Amino acid sequence: MFGKDVPAELQGPPPVHLGVPMPDPGPAPGCDVCAALSEQREQARKRRDMSKVSDLNIEIRNHPHGAG
Ligand SMILES: [Zn+2]
Repeated sequence: MFGKDVPAELQGPPPVHLGVPMPDPGPAPGCDVCAALSEQREQARKRRDMSKVSDLNIEIRNHPHGAG
């Protein structure tokens, strides 16, 4: 009586999230804002506040570095 109840993990590709840390964007040289964000990121990392780390990475990536 084996029907079509194949477990989901045998059907699709594995999930993308494998726990591999994203490479951190470096702060732009000479950008005080990025330097501050980078320092906050280190402190968040020490607290294991990975959602904050991720937020700060996004902020650094999106920062115009004084172009605005
Ligand atoms: Zn910047």
